[in-house]
Amino acid sequence: MKKFGAYPVVVNYNLHTQLRNNPKQDDLYRMGRREEEKQLYIKTTRTSDAGIENNLYKQEIRQWETTICQCLRQIEGNPVGRIVLGLINKQTTVWINPETDDWKKCSCAQTGPLNYEIQKDSVARGAGSGDTLILFKPELGDDTLFHELVHAYRYSYKKFSPMCIDNLNPSPKGPHCGSSEEFLAHQMSNLYMSQANRPLTLDYYDASVSSKDEIYNFLQNDVDRLEALKYFLRHEYLAMLAAHTFTSTNYNPFRDYAMLEANFLKDMDLPTLPELGTVLRS
Ligand SMILES: [Zn+2]
Repeated sequence: MKKFGAYPVVVNYNLHTQLRNNPKQDDLYRMGRREEEKQLYIKTTRTSDAGIENNLYKQEIRQWETTICQCLRQIEGNPVGRIVLGLINKQTTVWINPETDDWKKCSCAQTGPLNYEIQKDSVARGAGSGDTLILFKPELGDDTLFHELVHAYRYSYKKFSPMCIDNLNPSPKGPHCGSSEEFLAHQMSNLYMSQANRPLTLDYYDASVSSKDEIYNFLQNDVDRLEALKYFLRHEYLAMLAAHTFTSTNYNPFRDYAMLEANFLKDMDLPTLPELGTVLRS
């Protein structure tokens, strides 16, 4: 188990503890003992494999934790990454655990609150706040870990609450109702990538590699995403900070919001756009 620098981030290899405890959590779920299920999930997250059979997995633990810390150092070396790491609520802890094979199938990472709100008749663990768990594998890369840290930051201040962004161009596999939290994390990830002169992607629901102009064009033709940008500029400190800090980064839709909105409105009889979630009165 390794704490990463001065940040409230703990890297903990517990693959074998998860493999032993996850079936017990499933059993508790089936028996309706949901509070016990959650307590075992929390305990598993915080338990290191170092305690198993005289530290049998010592090599595996060291290798995985060293790799994840290198990934975190890469994030810290990027000014956009450093800001997100530094903003995570220090009253909380972000736990990074390895993914078991169940997760590897989806080739994705996952972030959720440790003390999740139990949902009736559902295994969903996404609602809640405070400490978080990121399930991750190094092959996903620093950009994916950065994306998850944006979610962890929002959870740490009890701000993670997905709102629906109407998806004008829904991808066949994606949901029709996009999540504002994924939108924010994707915008921050593109800023992170732009800062390092790495390739950008169009949208959370369409990961085609795209230029800044192509993405700006996409945004300024999508009223829902413009309203989401405006919402975050007004209510999310990270977005405001990004707008004012990264003045010379090529891609920064928070800094360039006024221009994007003006392009959208130029042929319309509307002075301004509302923020996402505003109920318009007719
Ligand atoms: Zn995400």
